[in-house]
Amino acid sequence: MTDDNTEGTMQAPRHRVVVIGSGFGGLFGTKALRRADVDVTMVAKTTHHLFQPLLYQVATGILSEGEIAPPTREILRSQKNAQVLLGNVTDIDLGRRTVTSQVLGRESVVPYDSLIVAAGAGQSYFGNDHFSEFAPGMKSIDDALELRGRIFGAFEMAELGARRGENVDHLLAFVVVGAGPTGVEMAGQIAELAQRTLRRDFRAINTRSARVVLVDAAAQVLPPFGAKLGASTKKELEKLGVEVILGAMVTDVDERGLTMQHKDGRSERLEAVTKIWAAGVQASSLTQTLAAQSGAPLDRAGRIGVNPDLTLPGHPDVFVVGDMIALDNLPGVAQVAIQSSRYAAKEIRGRIEGKPAQEPFHYFDKGSMATISRFRAVAMVGKLRLTGIIAWLMWLAVHLFYITGFKNRITAVLHWFVSFLGRGRSERTSTEQQIFARSALARLRGGTNDLVSAPGLYDAAHDLARRAELEEQAHHDLARRAELEKQALEEARLTDEGARGVKETSRA
Ligand SMILES: Cc1cc2nc3c(=O)[nH]c(=O)nc-3n(C[C@H](O)[C@H](O)[C@H](O)COP(=O)(O)OP(=O)(O)OC[C@H]3O[C@@H](n4cnc5c(N)ncnc54)[C@H](O)[C@@H]3O)c2cc1C
Repeated sequence: MTDDNTEGTMQAPRHRVVVIGSGFGGLFGTKALRRADVDVTMVAKTTHHLFQPLLYQVATGILSEGEIAPPTREILRSQKNAQVLLGNVTDIDLGRRTVTSQVLGRESVVPYDSLIVAAGAGQSYFGNDHFSEFAPGMKSIDDALELRGRIFGAFEMAELGARRGENVDHLLAFVVVGAGPTGVEMAGQIAELAQRTLRRDFRAINTRSARVVLVDAAAQVLPPFGAKLGASTKKELEKLGVEVILGAMVTDVDERGLTMQHKDGRSERLEAVTKIWAAGVQASSLTQTLAAQSGAPLDRAGRIGVNPDLTLPGHPDVFVVGDMIALDNLPGVAQVAIQSSRYAAKEIRGRIEGKPAQEPFHYFDKGSMATISRFRAVAMVGKLRLTGIIAWLMWLAVHLFYITGFKNRITAVLHWFVSFLGRGRSERTSTEQQIFARSALARLRGGTNDLVSAPGLYDAAHDLARRAELEEQAHHDLARRAELEKQALEEARLTDEGARGVKETSRA
């Protein structure tokens, strides 16, 4: 019998790669390591991979959340060298080479030989985080479902108010802050909801009178698409009935509306219960952890400066990819995350196989696109600028290609048929909890940790008392069961004897 620990037969442990994040960077980086002689541990704070570009369709009832957020475990099921760990990464120790994560008070510490950090970016309220209570962002499934509830809920509340003869203008006003692709897509879709989809669903309100406003401090819509496409997008939005207000900075947000300041210093108040924040991003705070230990610089959006091969200065075993990096003015788009994480994975594999280092990372720009409404989009591919239905069909094909999973592609196409060719929205369901849970959780001091017992703190005395309670309960349950059985027999007898619906007197 051989002993695994016997000198000469002992196997060198496999190279351990930890990947932080299950977004575009995390998922594509992990997949790119499937044939490498490594063990990969993906640590992410959600159990799904999120296709962020279609979040706005979840928020406006076109797609279901499952279609754009498949479980990471299922996607990686057949990748034998990969395992998935749920956890919010709270620390990276570059000296000890460990990643620490937490979930509901449970801590995991995972050692690594190589690390790929792909934790992305969150919403930025430019130092006014309290705005988020009244103007949710659009970064997660929770955000999209909350917005869905708020948008459809606003029409419901307006209907109730109108039946009572109240002024409901503030309920039928929707303000989207930020005229980048997400803001444009949201504004366009809300306008379509009001003008087409919901038009015949209400009795006391005219949904077509809803006011949809798109506000931005910049002087144009879609700045990264250039002046020409920006101007054509603005025109298309206005045709849809969206009011576009440019050069206006939002200075305050509350339950009932928001205040903005125009370029000339004039202040204006918009009364709108539904506000959506689609302006500004801030890289994951993990860049601060990395910067503090490596001395790497951070830019204003919290993105970290990396070497041309995407490694952290002074730490060749740590790669940072996607939305977290500040390198060569790369945009925060899915293709940067995909290509940079594949590059990092290839480098890790190459090192293990003794291959020479790759050339510095080079981003291949495949183009950008944004939808405005059904059949309308704008696209940039190289020097080509496209608008209208051609751009929209391109958008459709590209997004279909990148949606993860065959099943999701089929159902997404069906939902698109329903929404774009017909008037329907198959995913309008929303619950009160979706709308209010975020604020309720924020009021708990320890967040969700307050709702579960800490690991290892199982209270045996409490358990004994609970068991006694349950025994007593069981006793009552027995009596109740006998009662129910008797009742059921009586019911059956009445049916069998044809005694139902027969007056007592006629039976006599
Ligand atoms: C609404 C919206 C629309 C967009 N539309 C487009 C578009 O049309 N085209 C385009 O190219 N790009 C678009 N983008 C941008 C694109 O989605 C991002 O550039 C891309 O997702 C970046 O990939 P990433 O892997 O760097 O980060 P992400 O995809 O954001 O992934 C980050 C991952 O890290 C996890 N994570 C974060 N912090 C922690 C932590 N502390 N511990 C553990 N896990 C953590 C997250 O849960 C997530 O899984 C859009 C983004 C948004 C929000």
